[in-house]
Order: sequence, then structure tokens, then C-alpha cells
Amino acid sequence: MKPNTTKIALLFLALAWCVVPIFGQQTPDKKDKFKQLYQELPTPNVYRNGAGGPGHRYYQQQADYVMNIRLDDDKQRIYGEETITYTNNSPDVLEYLWIQLDQNHFDDESDTYSTRPSTMSERMTLRQLDGFTPTFDGGDKIEFVKDAAGKDLKYTVVKTMMRIDLPTAIAPGGKYSFKIKWWFNIVDRLKLGGRSGCEYFPDDKNYLYSIAQFFPRMCVYDDIEGWQNKQFLGAGEFTLVFGNYDVSLTVPDDHIVVATGTLQNTKDILSKEQMARFEKAKTEYTTPVVIVTEDEARENEKEKGKGEKTWRFKADNVRDFAFASSRKFIWDAMSVKQSNGTNVLAMSAYPKEANPLWGQFSTKAIAHTLKWYSHYTFDYPYPVAISVEAANGMEYPMICFNNGRVEKDGTYSERTKYGTIGVIIHEVGHNYFPMIVNSDERQWTWMDEGLNSFLQFLAEQQWERDYPSRRGFANSIVPYMKMDKKMLEPIMTNSEQVSQLGNNAYGKPAAALNILRETVMGRELFDHAFKMYANRWKFKHPAPSDFFRTMEDASGIDLDWFWNGWFYTCDNVDIALEDVKWFRPDSKNPDVEKTLVRKEQEKQPRNITSIRNEKEIAKTQEELDPSIRDFYYSYDPLQVTILDKEDYQKYLNGLSDEEKKILGTNKNFYEIKFKNKGGLVMPLILRFDFADGTSKEYRIPAEIWRLNNEEVSKVFVTEKEATQITLDPYLETADVDMENNFFPPKSQQSRFELFKGSNLGPRQTVETGDNPMQKAKKIQAKANGSN
Ligand SMILES: [Zn+2]
Repeated sequence: MKPNTTKIALLFLALAWCVVPIFGQQTPDKKDKFKQLYQELPTPNVYRNGAGGPGHRYYQQQADYVMNIRLDDDKQRIYGEETITYTNNSPDVLEYLWIQLDQNHFDDESDTYSTRPSTMSERMTLRQLDGFTPTFDGGDKIEFVKDAAGKDLKYTVVKTMMRIDLPTAIAPGGKYSFKIKWWFNIVDRLKLGGRSGCEYFPDDKNYLYSIAQFFPRMCVYDDIEGWQNKQFLGAGEFTLVFGNYDVSLTVPDDHIVVATGTLQNTKDILSKEQMARFEKAKTEYTTPVVIVTEDEARENEKEKGKGEKTWRFKADNVRDFAFASSRKFIWDAMSVKQSNGTNVLAMSAYPKEANPLWGQFSTKAIAHTLKWYSHYTFDYPYPVAISVEAANGMEYPMICFNNGRVEKDGTYSERTKYGTIGVIIHEVGHNYFPMIVNSDERQWTWMDEGLNSFLQFLAEQQWERDYPSRRGFANSIVPYMKMDKKMLEPIMTNSEQVSQLGNNAYGKPAAALNILRETVMGRELFDHAFKMYANRWKFKHPAPSDFFRTMEDASGIDLDWFWNGWFYTCDNVDIALEDVKWFRPDSKNPDVEKTLVRKEQEKQPRNITSIRNEKEIAKTQEELDPSIRDFYYSYDPLQVTILDKEDYQKYLNGLSDEEKKILGTNKNFYEIKFKNKGGLVMPLILRFDFADGTSKEYRIPAEIWRLNNEEVSKVFVTEKEATQITLDPYLETADVDMENNFFPPKSQQSRFELFKGSNLGPRQTVETGDNPMQKAKKIQAKANGSN
């Protein structure tokens, strides 16, 4: 018969560091945050499949444009005539066509003005007052809409849209050509705003034109919306069809023009010297070649030319066309070699007001953008990439309008420098999203701005160490996400209904994608899936579900919880270290345990009464009979006795060898309770710091919350005793409250400035608003003066 080997459960001794936990209310549907998005996402079909790619019957329409445009520099007007050839690749019969007349949002009776809420305040600017009663004669003046044979077509203008009723419906696979003639007054951008228009320079009495949304453009017809003819109110941008463009631009003969596409008649347009410089730029890869110098531009802007010149551009497979024209332009260019061997001509056009800043950085920033965006997506497919200084920030295929003016003395602040490089990376980057990965901007701002702001962040961080990126870092979105939820909308909200477009559609998705990459998926899986999305949808029209599905399908990571929390709710991340309990195995060895208890007792604080009674007690003790005194005071309950040792031996005999081993290790067991206060479930990133200066990290996927979305406990086993436990030590989850991320709790240090009266003392903080060039001049002057 075997001896009775009843298992004795190992006992653990709970040590210090216990706080009273507060139990939260459990919602009945506690697993809700990990539900699959079957209700939110459209059912996969033949046009868009369940993997997030184009389906086997995916189609898209095509619109080809031939245009003659004339810029009137005296009246600030655009006159245009275009022939659109529309190809119906859809399986549907089209009885009518929808055209976008974006200029109509400048009409003084437009919904842009009438539906804009307004209030009065004690201080009003002239521009604000003008906004109440707009008087600008804006909007397209349509002269005719005719078919290819010159016969008038019936059309109906509906605010910023125009419907053309076709005499014969276009069958699937059919083509239809028609002509439109129109003109409009160019808006003064600095007075009335808008993405495109002109700027007047009173000093030299010249205009700089940055012209876009200037021609009647086809709406998109697709499997999601039918015709995307949602009115243009100002926030929701553009939804456009791919096609080929052949555009002749007639402008004053002393203007320099840059535009979407390749210049077709360089020889007729440029001087011999400019021609030579232009050719040289095609083989120059490091320093931009100046085609029109600042001196030449200054000379050029002194007086107006008398005649006109026509610049002809062609662009294939683009969704839009824009151009800039001015006699003020300085122009430089250089080539960028891509990994597939093709060359792209990077060019910048800017007035003297932006130089030398632009000469130093613009074209180089274009090259940098192409390099890094291509790295994460695909090689840039167009022949040119142009950055124009137009006191703006707006994107078009191959060309974008940016900003960055210098001081009168030619110096510029750090903020201006980084702002300029940042906006150029951003707007050039838009070539990828949405110009090539052609999402529906009228519906979703985040699909281009969010993805683009994320890539902008990656490119900026590659420009120089610790580049001061405005958006992208997880913690940069904290101030927005911790706001009252009543002030916020989910990212998945139509562009026109978003109250803080910059935070909602740029900053939050950029931070979310960065968190996906660094914390949830890891760089390798994220980059693979992101590249897959970009390549699946380049030169196509993706929807949000295509992005969500591809990121999951290509990486093998279920992200429904992430899309649900970050894109469909206004919850934030606030995970708290609610309670930490520290356990060690109770060895039952009286030699070990009684010593530990003694140590603990010695650490305990003493009562004030017993401290103050010390002397009297000693006296009482002395007065006692020695025989009683010695016995009474020598008793030590923590002394290890023969009886203790016997008990311990009995305990040991009852244990298996494996159980005895654990008793001997003396490991630390930390049971940590985490509380989800913000609503978003997120991975847990923990760092344990030990007394010897070493540390250990734990990265636990968000699925730890799958059985209880609000509260979860987990045990961590360490060899060494932790002196500090930190949750999210690298600020990677956008946790809105770091006060509850430390154990033992750590108060966040802040500093105050001591000052006497009004003497504030010198500022020690470095701000990006500093103008280092002016500062250097001052230091130099001081140094010279003191010699
Ligand atoms: Zn943008």
C-alpha cells in the first residue's frame, strides 16, 4: 500500500503594494468590442471581394478631356472650351450624365454660404463681415453644352452639379463625346479663401494664379453610389474619374506655367538658355538646376508682356488637371531615379517672396517624398512632380500648391522651415492618396488625408532625427481624444459632418495607423498589408471596407476590434494599473519565513505613544524582579524552535520533487489588475524596472480583453523584485491619462518659473518658432562688438 500523497497546495504570501480595488459595472454584452463588423461593412460582391481587393467584375468609368483654356490676366478670368469623351465600362445603361461645377460654390447664393452657421462677436474682421453678404460674381457661366455634331444638349444645373440628359442612353461598353464652353471670374484666394484662385502682390502689381477645379468635370459612376453627385459644400473634396488629358493653356507671354502632365511644346515656349537648363535638369540628381533664376524673375515681374503664348500639356491616366501661372515664378528642377529605373522630373515654381527657403528645400523635399512614399507603396508612375508656392496647401495629380514665405530680410524661422518641408511632403504625397489610389473624397476625408498624413509622418521622420512632426505620434492625438465625446465624431463620418476635420480625418487616423504599425501588427506585417492595399487599388476606386479588409486579409491579424473602436466610435484609450499584488511562494521554512517577517516588522512605523513612553517603560522594566524580567523580556516569538523545524519537515515530506523545486526559487509573482477606463481595448505594454537598473518588457495583444472588455487581471513572474511598473512606457497607445500608468504611483513633475514683479528672466526653452538665422546675426554682432 502506498502512503497517502494528498497534494498540499502551494501557499503564497501576499506582500506589500496592495491597494483596494474599485470594481466597475459590467455591461451585459461585455464581449461586444471584439465582434466582427458584419453590420458595418458592405457584403462582399463581384465588384469588391471579401479579401478587400477588386472583385472579378470590378469596373470603372473613363473620362478623356481635350481642353482649350485662356487665362485673362487683366480681368482675372478663365475662359474654357472642352470636349469630354466618356466611356461607360459599367454593366448599366446610362440615361444621363452628371458633371461637377465646383466654381458654383463661390456663387453668392450657394449652399456653401447659406448653410454656414454664423455668429457675431465684439471683434469682427472685414473678411468675416463680407462672409455674411457675399458679393463676388463667382460660379461657372455656361455658354453651351453640345454633342459631338454641334447639336445643343439639354442640361440642368443643380447647384454645384449639372445633369446632361442624353438623346440616346449610353449602353454598357459605349462611348459618348460632348462639348462644354464656359467662363468664370477667378476668386482672390487671400480674400475669399478656396483651394484655387489668384493672389495679388501689391508691391509689384502682379498676380500669381494657382488654378484648379476650373473645368466642368465628370462625376464618378460606380458600384457603391451610382452617380456620386453629392453637392460640394467646401469640406468634402473631390471624387473623380481617371482619363487622359490634352490641355492647351493660353496665358500672357511672359508667364511661366507649370501643370499636370508633360509640356509638349517646350521648344516654342522656352528661350534657348532655359531650354539648355531644362535639359540639364533631366540628368542632375543631387542639386536642382535653376531654369528661371531669382534675378530673371525679378526682372520679369517689372513690366507686363504684350502678347500671349500657348503651353500645351498632356497627361495620361490622371483623375484631374491643375496649373499655376505667373510672371513672378522662379523655376528649378532635378531628376529623381526610382527603384524601377524610371526618372521623374521634380520641379518647383515659386515667387521671390519664398526664396531662398524654397530654392534650398522644395525640390529636395519632392525627391525625398517620392523616395519614401514609393518605398511604402509603389513607384511613382507619372513623369513629373511639381511643388508650387501659392500661399496654400492643396493637391492635384503631378502638381500641388504649397506655402512658405520668408521674412523681408530673407531669413526664416524654424517653424516656417519645418512647416514648408512638411506641407510639401504632404501635398506631393497626395499623388499616392487620392490621386492614384483614388478614393471617394466627397464621402471620406480620412481615406486620403489620414493615410497621407500617416505616410507624411513616416517620411518626415526619415528627413532628420526627431523631426517635429505635427501629426502621427500616438500621443499627439491625446488632447483631441480626451475631449468631451459630445464634441467629437467617429472617423467614419462624412466629410461635411466633421467638426474638427484636421484632428478627425488627418491626425487621428495617422496616429491610429502608426499604432497599428508599431504596437498592434508590427512593422513587417503592417508594411506588407499596407503595400498590398496600395497596389491592389492604384488607379482604382477603393472604399473604406477595401482598406479594412486588405489590412486584415494580408496580415493574418483580426483587426475588427481596432476598426470598430478607432474608426466607428469616439472612445479613447485610458488603461489604468488598477491594482498590483505582489506574491512570493511561502517556503514554510521557519529559517526563511521568520527572518522575512522580522524584516517586515522592522520596516513598520512605530506608534507615537510607544515612542514617547520609551523612557518610562525602561524604568518599569528595571524595577521588575530579575527572574520574571529575564523570562518575560527574552521571549521572542520569531525565534526558530525545534517544533517549527519538525513542522517544516512534515510539510516537505508531503510535497513532490517538482513542488519542492518551486519552493526553492524565490520568484516574484505580480498579479496586476488593469482597468479600461477610456473604452478602447488596446495591447498592454508593460515595463518592470528592477533595483539593479535592469528592466523587462511585456507586450500583450489586445485580445487579453476579449472575455471582459472592462477589467482584466494577469500574473507576471520575475526573478527580481520590481521597483517600478510602468504601463505604456514609450507613449505608443495614445493613453489619455498617464497618472494611472505607474506602480507605485508617480506624480508627474511640472515646473514653475520664479519671478519678481514683472521680471520674467530669460527663456530657456527652445521653440521651433525661433529664427536661427536672425539669432546668428545678433550673436555675431554681439561678438564683434565686444572685441
Ligand atoms: Zn491633405
